[in-house]
Amino acid sequence: MATVEARRVYKLFDEVRAVDGIDLIAKEGEFLVLLGPSGCGKTTLMRMIAGLEQPTSGEILLDGVVVNERPPRARNVAMVFQSYALYPHLTVEKNISFPLRAVGMAKEEIRKKVEWAARMFGIERLLDRKPRQLSGGERQRVALARAVVRQPVVFLLDEPLSNLDAKLRNSARDELKQFQRNLGTTTIYVTHDQAEAMGLGDRIAVLSQGKVMQVGTPQEIYGAPANTFVATFIGSPPMNMVDEGTTWLGFRPEAFLPRDVTSTADTVTFPFRVTRVEYLGADHLIYGVLEGRTPEAHVISKLPNNIRAEIVAGEKYDFVVRKSDLVRFDRASGERLDGGAQ
Ligand code: ADP
Ligand code: MG
Repeated sequence: MATVEARRVYKLFDEVRAVDGIDLIAKEGEFLVLLGPSGCGKTTLMRMIAGLEQPTSGEILLDGVVVNERPPRARNVAMVFQSYALYPHLTVEKNISFPLRAVGMAKEEIRKKVEWAARMFGIERLLDRKPRQLSGGERQRVALARAVVRQPVVFLLDEPLSNLDAKLRNSARDELKQFQRNLGTTTIYVTHDQAEAMGLGDRIAVLSQGKVMQVGTPQEIYGAPANTFVATFIGSPPMNMVDEGTTWLGFRPEAFLPRDVTSTADTVTFPFRVTRVEYLGADHLIYGVLEGRTPEAHVISKLPNNIRAEIVAGEKYDFVVRKSDLVRFDRASGERLDGGAQ
């Protein structure tokens, strides 16, 4: 096990600040998720940790030791990419054992390690196949088995599930979490998918344009977003943001409910003109406008179907938000001023 740290790390590609001054620590045994939109610098940061890329400035530390000068091989870090990059002409067994053969490990020991890794991912019966004879999910497991077989001190997983269909992704997510818990290996996991981040991360680092916006547990990130970027990046639909002149007033769609189905103690009432109702199965999404505000405040309510409320488009209703669910952000900086439950 190991800690991973980035200290004031920058990476510039000509004018592009791919990583723009990142300070971040993955604690020993932690599952840390890097979450952010495409192009925010996630892969570049991972490549610098792996040693595949040199920082323009700043330091990468493993277990408190600066490793900037250490080549990838000497870092004992295993990286799995979105494209699994299996060797097509090699069997699964040879793919998994590749890193061990590369360092000249004894045959018998290799056999034991491959068996162990294959068992962990339930791919024992696939060992003689070639990658083209595998489904996407099976290939994924082979790539992960190849990563664990070296028993690295750190796993770097860069969108490893994004090639899988939704159902498979869910089960692969479960497996991944389980095996990380069992091994206790410090893991940094990159995704642009917030549901994946929330489900997997002990902590989440939200990135935007090469910078860390917030680091926290899923509960902290969701309940008390540090700024408007995090507030509107996390949550589906995202947090409602109402322009109050000097501040932004934020509240989650599921906290915005019809007054007649909510206890009205400690709530704020908003007259809400409904423009559209969307049925989502478990919930309804209710779109509309808060009355009497300039500029127009478009907001959304997410109403579970077990709440009985007849809401139709074109009508006006009183909706409420509990005061404890209101979050205020500074208009100019976007930083959270107060509110938010952690
Ligand atoms: P992410 O993984 O979050 O999608 P990346 O780390 O791949 O983002 O990229 C961050 C930014 O750096 C992007 O603007 C990307 O175009 C740029 N970038 C990444 N690698 C290179 C490179 N080798 N040369 C030039 N620009 C790059
Ligand atoms: Mg990437």
